[in-house]
Amino acid sequence: MTHIYNFSAGPAVLPKEVLAQAAAEMLDWHGSGMSVMEMSHRGPEFISIYQAAVRDLRELLAVPDNYKILFLQGGGLGENAIVPLNLVGRKAQPATVDFVHTGSWSGKSIKEAAKYATVNVAASSQAEGFCGVPPQSAWKLTPDAAYLHICTNETIDGVEYPFAPELAGDTPIVADMSSHILSRVIDVSQYGVIFGGAQKNIGPAGLTLVIVREDLLGAALPICPSAFDWSVVAEHESMYNTPPTYGIYIAGLVFQWLKRQGGVAAMEKRNIDKAALLYAALDADDFYQNRVAKAYRSRMTIPFFLRDESKNEAFLAGAKQRGLLQLKGHKSVGGMRASIYNAMPIEGVQALVDYLNEFAGR
Ligand SMILES: *Cc1c(COP(=O)(O)O)cnc(C)c1O
Repeated sequence: MTHIYNFSAGPAVLPKEVLAQAAAEMLDWHGSGMSVMEMSHRGPEFISIYQAAVRDLRELLAVPDNYKILFLQGGGLGENAIVPLNLVGRKAQPATVDFVHTGSWSGKSIKEAAKYATVNVAASSQAEGFCGVPPQSAWKLTPDAAYLHICTNETIDGVEYPFAPELAGDTPIVADMSSHILSRVIDVSQYGVIFGGAQKNIGPAGLTLVIVREDLLGAALPICPSAFDWSVVAEHESMYNTPPTYGIYIAGLVFQWLKRQGGVAAMEKRNIDKAALLYAALDADDFYQNRVAKAYRSRMTIPFFLRDESKNEAFLAGAKQRGLLQLKGHKSVGGMRASIYNAMPIEGVQALVDYLNEFAGR
């Protein structure tokens, strides 16, 4: 088999070391005689796996003590409902929720939240084709909003926030970080809630991560399912119902791998280098095109187009021959997309760049 590099948007590439360790431990975890998949989530073996995962994630992101780390199910899209179900009850009904619309994923969040709250789109980059983030000075925020929702990396559009918003009032910021969490240093204390599906930059599909400030707990609407009520989940250490145990185990191995790489700051340095290498090849001449304004270009999820779209099929076929997989763009935007998450080594980006240059005849 030729060496493969997987540029899938998600489920996505995982560190080879992590997969090898999981394979070695598959039938007998640490002499327990059991696979992690077969363990009770309440037994001492799994509890130790869970506790290490929480501890390592807290360390990696420097999560302050007044924040809970929750492992749920339901994915990023599930959180689009779970967030308003947990937060709009903080205000008199009907409550207003603010959004910044920067692409496909924040658009989906807006639609879902409208089932539970009055939605105010405080700013949108839709008219400009989602090529950036509207400057914070132009956001028309609601003074008494239950929260402000942003998507800090628009996976499909390839737009990433280069800044963390700072609000004057006490409106909590909810950030969908599904596709770039752990790729760059963040200050958790600037957010009320951070959430993300695991399948982009953490681990397998089926696990959803929520980091929530404690004072935001306890306001769930009466119709909120108990299994999605963050205060109930927090009270039960993410074991109110059976959590996605194997997903938590793999995520925990990824957290340990990240620590061995030097942590999030070290990953961020590598991610800057990887993205710079790829964008330089895309920008070298007119053969390829990335339409996002430079200041907002994602380091993780990079859509691009061939100017001559009649060459798309040939491009993808040649990429596949060279072991460069899953480069086809999202169906809603077409073209190509390279997702270069933490687990994508710079060698993979270099292999893609070599192919980009070769295909362009450079
Ligand atoms: C993938 C993605 C989602 C949706 O995640 P699911 O797990 O499929 O529900 C939501 N938000 C962002 C930013 C994503 O990249």
